Amino acid sequence: MTSATRGGWDAVGTADRLRRRVADELGAVLAAGPVGVGRVHVGWVAARDVAGCAARYRGQGEDGWGFPGWSPATAAGAVARAALLAYLDDHERPGSGAAPPPAPLGTVRQWMRSCRDLSADGVAGWVAERRDDGDAAVLAATAAGASRWLAGFLRVMGWPLPADLGLLNAGQGTLTWRPAGVAGVSVSGGADARLGRVSGAGRFSLVVHRPAGGDDGAVEVRATFEAAAGALARGIAPEAVLVTAGDTGERLRLAVDDDVLAAGGGLVVDVVRQRVIATERGFDPADATPGAACRHCERALECPPGQAWLHGPGHARGGLPVGA
Ligand code: SF4
Repeated sequence: MTSATRGGWDAVGTADRLRRRVADELGAVLAAGPVGVGRVHVGWVAARDVAGCAARYRGQGEDGWGFPGWSPATAAGAVARAALLAYLDDHERPGSGAAPPPAPLGTVRQWMRSCRDLSADGVAGWVAERRDDGDAAVLAATAAGASRWLAGFLRVMGWPLPADLGLLNAGQGTLTWRPAGVAGVSVSGGADARLGRVSGAGRFSLVVHRPAGGDDGAVEVRATFEAAAGALARGIAPEAVLVTAGDTGERLRLAVDDDVLAAGGGLVVDVVRQRVIATERGFDPADATPGAACRHCERALECPPGQAWLHGPGHARGGLPVGA
């Protein structure tokens, strides 16, 4: 691939350097630990959890480190993207004319009704299974969550969608980086879309959509991780990460530079580092970092710093007692 620059920014060379640096650091972290860490896939949930409280992440163990499985909550975005992609495909057929804006719930339901293949990959197979089982409550909850996701996405992106928008993680497979010489580690981003053409010039942005806004710290971690994961997986650094919120219409833009990529690469390495540490000591509150995650932490009762936080500033949220 030919390296290209935008305003002095070498998108391909920068991604290559990031790949080398992260691979070197991962190799060093694994070499310093015991044998038997096993496979480690680094996605945005793991990066966010480690950045929030490494002690809690380690304490989750194998059950918490992997994908929790499909549910109405985890499937909403995937169903919405797949439904929107199918709608766009249908309306791009010759003779279909200009597409009217998709009705969110109707579009989602139509796609879910088309899911009949029990062996299909990803969320399509799960929806087919739920339909086969007649699990009406789960299907209804999934359709509601997906239609809320889609309505918010259309609200912030507008209709027609930007001509250079492409949906990501919508059933077409996920780009994954497997660093050469670092066995067992893989990294992939979870961006919902891209804006702009992916080329060596790096003039594209990654889009992360959330149905609801809030928690600015977590948003920054997410955007920073997606910048690095996108560069690592594509070998081209994006120029920005756009984080949108469906309820408020918010569009936050993180411009990507060397510092952002270094921080994002650090998040990737930190996940693997914590998995290495977890092989020697699992949950250990010695390095616990109290914060909002304490409110739903499975280890809270065995964590003195978390208890102190929950009985102090964590007792109130938005000025109101939590759980009152
Ligand atoms: S209670 Fe809070 S500080 Fe303690 S492990 Fe859980 S998230 Fe971390």
